[in-house]
Amino acid sequence: MGSGGLIVMDEDTCMVDIAKFFLEFTVDESCGKCPPCRIGTKRMYEILERITEGKGEEGDIEKLEILAKNIKAAALCGLGQTAPNPILSTLRYFRDEYIEHVRDKKCSAGVCKSLMHFEIDAEKCKCCGICAKQCPVGAISGEKKVPYVIDQNKCIKCGVCVEKCPFKVISKKA
Ligand code: SF4
Ligand code: SF4
Ligand code: SF4
Repeated sequence: MGSGGLIVMDEDTCMVDIAKFFLEFTVDESCGKCPPCRIGTKRMYEILERITEGKGEEGDIEKLEILAKNIKAAALCGLGQTAPNPILSTLRYFRDEYIEHVRDKKCSAGVCKSLMHFEIDAEKCKCCGICAKQCPVGAISGEKKVPYVIDQNKCIKCGVCVEKCPFKVISKKA
């Protein structure tokens, strides 16, 4: 990713999110001298942000490709010329992940918070109440002998309940 170093990732890494992560660095570092880098990287970042928030639209992937190729060709220095590389590489090798985000509003890696939710397996819940005590926003409710449930409108998707449930019956759903 630009430094000659290798980064090892697995199926729990979202490729759209990782492209956004690297692009954010370039947006911050751009000196602003030339418009392709100054403005183009921001527009690409905005598109990636929308896609990871579940607001991706048909045509976004193509827009990203056009922007990326033009920025590469027109930016004045190496920073702008290489800024689109994470997008182009992830699009080349993991295009299905972009399509999944835009078309199905789904993030299989379970990284994009807007595209996932947490669920308690009602059949396996032991009604101990530990998760409800640990939830920082009081999104979990239940009572003795009644399986606990998560209020999806209150949940901030912090994942604390998954860690704290001693019976491992809460899971993240893409
Ligand atoms: S490509 Fe180079 S010169 Fe152009 S805005 Fe980016 S950092 Fe500045
Ligand atoms: S993910 Fe966090 S906010 Fe959501 S129910 Fe679990 S503990 Fe509460
Ligand atoms: S901690 Fe696990 S078993 Fe206990 S109430 Fe919550 S979901 Fe059910």
